[in-house]
Amino acid sequence: MRLWRTLVVAADSPLGRVAPMLDELTAHLPPPNQPWACSLCSTESWPCSRFDQAAHHLRRAGLRLSDLIPLDLHPRLWPPPGPRPPQQPAPPPARPDLDEERPPDG
Ligand SMILES: [Zn+2]
Repeated sequence: MRLWRTLVVAADSPLGRVAPMLDELTAHLPPPNQPWACSLCSTESWPCSRFDQAAHHLRRAGLRLSDLIPLDLHPRLWPPPGPRPPQQPAPPPARPDLDEERPPDG
């Protein structure tokens, strides 16, 4: 169970205008220790589509999502860069003589 804080903002302020989307985003956060499970959507894993939609609106409103998401969920949304996979050897260059397989002009 997450702990919540209640915040009061003027409805006609920039934050007040997107507050319903912020409520939506927060409602679709997973519980602690279950970062794959949305609290509301039983058929989707997290991040669920309604969370994604709210996040999209909030980003467009200029809010930073990382300020709105609990820290324990950051690795789910923004996985840390892992070690790079080993480089595949480059394929040998194409042989130019194979590119010339055109029928001779009759
Ligand atoms: Zn959800």
